[in-house]
Amino acid sequence: MYRSEIDFSTRCDLAARQKKVTSKEKGRTEWSAYRRSVKSKAVVDALRKMNGQRQRCVYCCDSRSADVDHFTPIAVDFSRTFSWNNFILVCPECNRKKSARFPVDTEGRPLVINPTLEDPWNFLVLDTKNGYLAARFLEEEFDLKGDITIEVISCVNHEAVVEGRRRVISRYYEAVESLLEHDSPASVVAKLMREVREDEYGVGEWFARREGREEPLFQELRNRFPMIWRRFVREVCRS
Ligand SMILES: [Zn+2]
Repeated sequence: MYRSEIDFSTRCDLAARQKKVTSKEKGRTEWSAYRRSVKSKAVVDALRKMNGQRQRCVYCCDSRSADVDHFTPIAVDFSRTFSWNNFILVCPECNRKKSARFPVDTEGRPLVINPTLEDPWNFLVLDTKNGYLAARFLEEEFDLKGDITIEVISCVNHEAVVEGRRRVISRYYEAVESLLEHDSPASVVAKLMREVREDEYGVGEWFARREGREEPLFQELRNRFPMIWRRFVREVCRS
């Protein structure tokens, strides 16, 4: 997911509001007034658009009333109360888990992944056998940011989320299997592309761009049907 830009008038509006924020208390009151005003619709719409059709929580992919959250909490840095780059769309559960804790390293850099600015797969791996996310294992230890993100935002491995991921994974397997069996007629190719579009958990990225591409099924797809493979990767990047 890449952070898109917002229009000029929204940017000016945010900058003007930020000027009024001189403390975290002021940040909170200005922010809640803003959220009640129609003006904030521009920000919500832009975040939703950035999230694709899914409009889901950037962490757990839950669709229950995802709302605007501050990546760096107002309590930690009120100078970012109205910073577009600081807004993320999250569900109430992840919001609650995250806002209570915002760990940083010795230089003050956040130790929680910001999915709108960095690729979560740089820090995490997907276990396709069970649908769980885990921190990447580097030379001798787990990636610190990946590890802490999973610990803080534990809902990324909630039962329902893991179950959802498992369902999407098996749908990908089925689509690729039938494509390999049928020597790729248009209808089975379309099925694979549909799975990408309906992939609510972003699992396709794992198969198209990360270690998942080395799984035998995807390797075979790549070797036997390079054109379809490239279409698959393009579709994943677009979704
Ligand atoms: Zn969530």
